[in-house]
Amino acid sequence: MATAGTLYVVATPIGNLQDLTPRALEVLNAVSLIAAEDTRHSARLLQHFGVATPTTACHDHNERDKSARLVERLLAGEDMALISDAGTPLISDPGFHLVRQAREAGVRVRPIPGACALIAGLSAAGLPSDRFAFEGFLPAKAHGRRQRIQALAAEQRTWMIYEAPHRLLECLEDLCELLGVERQVVLARELTKTFETIKGAPLGELVDWVRADADQQRGECVLIVEGAPQAADEDALDPQAERVLDVLLEELPVKQAAALAARITGLKKNRLYQLALTKTS
Ligand code: SAM
Repeated sequence: MATAGTLYVVATPIGNLQDLTPRALEVLNAVSLIAAEDTRHSARLLQHFGVATPTTACHDHNERDKSARLVERLLAGEDMALISDAGTPLISDPGFHLVRQAREAGVRVRPIPGACALIAGLSAAGLPSDRFAFEGFLPAKAHGRRQRIQALAAEQRTWMIYEAPHRLLECLEDLCELLGVERQVVLARELTKTFETIKGAPLGELVDWVRADADQQRGECVLIVEGAPQAADEDALDPQAERVLDVLLEELPVKQAAALAARITGLKKNRLYQLALTKTS
């Protein structure tokens, strides 16, 4: 039986072609096949670096079926690379099914690390990075997006999302309404490219800034959101007030329960709202 080949998961640049690592280039030249999210898109990158290795399409619509055939070729001894249109495969990009099926078949899978927009954004954002969460793309429709933001409102780690340029402003407006004008957010746009912009500001300010400048609503972006503040011990809620909130939460949606609890107890609505979120998420 032939010795199985290796599947290399190769990161490609997110804008600046210089970010393709020498090791990535070596692997792309050495393998017998490159599985690419979009072969025409990747042809430009491969041509630029003089890589002549054949490519095959492996994208969201064919990945499950295609993977079985690719794994057969790996098992027969071929080495293969997996790339996406930009950055690290599998990070909001195809590749999960191929990697999983390859590993299940006992094929060696090796990462060739490189650019990744969320890590690049986080590394320059100046927000706590010791613990963080990546939420991918939020749902495109307003209702789903707002529900996800609400579920994240009490998250204490820094969290990141990818957003399409034409939805950036409405996403920022929802973040502002649901997290409050003071929450710090960093917009990391066009990373590694000519118009790279990294702007950090409280949400109220950031929304106005993006609204006033249509250029900020173009290109690719990552939003890096400061985590919710940890309630200080001295700030602990009086048990009576908490009981009021608990009872109201049994009957009402979070927003109404917090508003009513604020009227009954005289405490700040936003504080009760944040606490209510931690109890319901
Ligand atoms: N696999 C990629 C990675 O490793 O970052 C992400 C692919 S995902 C389909 C594309 C999204 O990543 C874009 O919509 C944007 O949110 C983000 N992105 C990609 N390149 C970027 C860049 N140069 N600057 C800022 N965000 C970028």
